[in-house]
Amino acid sequence: MQLLDGKAISAQIKSEIKIEVENWISAGGKKPHLAAILVGEDGASETYVASKIRSCEEIGFTSTLLRFGPETTEAELLEAVESLNKNSDVDGFIVQLPLPKHISENTIMEAVDSSKDVDGFHPINVGRMCKGLPAYISATPFGILEMLIRAGIETSGKHCVVIGRSQIVGLPMSILMQRNEYPGNCTVTITHSKTKNLKEICQTADILIVALGRPEFVTADYIKDGAVVIDVGITRVKDASKKSGFAIKGDVNFADVAPKSSFITPVPGGVGLMTICGLLTNTLKAARKEIYK
Ligand code: NAD
Repeated sequence: MQLLDGKAISAQIKSEIKIEVENWISAGGKKPHLAAILVGEDGASETYVASKIRSCEEIGFTSTLLRFGPETTEAELLEAVESLNKNSDVDGFIVQLPLPKHISENTIMEAVDSSKDVDGFHPINVGRMCKGLPAYISATPFGILEMLIRAGIETSGKHCVVIGRSQIVGLPMSILMQRNEYPGNCTVTITHSKTKNLKEICQTADILIVALGRPEFVTADYIKDGAVVIDVGITRVKDASKKSGFAIKGDVNFADVAPKSSFITPVPGGVGLMTICGLLTNTLKAARKEIYK
């Protein structure tokens, strides 16, 4: 078993982006600028956004955090999105999900200018990705592809099973893994909460990508010997022994599954850290106008 070490790979990617930023600026380019909108007081969202902002500082981006209270209306949020769309100093921005229930995430996502949609959630970017056109690929799938590339994992002709069909992970991941390029060329099965015989399907996976949000759901009996296992899940589970009062759990029972796998991501220290790299890479592309001229 080999560990797909998100900490080491993401540190490497960040140092590469930092050099690219320095080169871009010394060639006369503007410092890339990422803005983030945070609505409400969700603890996990606070942590994710803080980590994104910290990463921007590390690699030489400008960052701006716009905070809104939990009672913010959809109209007020749309106004903030419009103002970032128009702000020529901001290259890309994200609206941290989830949003409070009274705000439609789809409405907000569609309001973001697709050329600044560095999370890759706008229908134009999703559509362009499906057609194999240049697009911002959403950050988590991008991070997973990068892990496969850097570990030199063969994907062509493999059976890739994705658990979960969410707009931000499962669905884009399934599309990317079947593309006619590397990483890709897999035969893909996408599974979800209504799938029958999930365990039997997973047992045929050469590459298993798990994103369902149920801690330690996947156990060794789901795994074919030598499978590559990518655990996207991040759930906070109460743990009195931790200072924070909670532990972070993946969707895979690591101790059980690791001995059967050829490569596996840990949680924490796996896909989560790679997600930030996806966002930073997209922001650099936005600053250099690589996708939208
Ligand atoms: P989601 O809730 O939007 O979707 C969950 C999916 O899992 C659904 O498609 C559902 O059909 C499927 N599902 C639920 N129960 C199932 C079951 N018993 N069998 C098979 N499929 C089932 O979730 P999401 O936004 O894709 O997130 C999934 C997990 O990944 C969460 O733990 C989330 O916190 C985590 N996540 C991590 C990152 C990261 O950067 N590592 C990014 C996004 C999400």
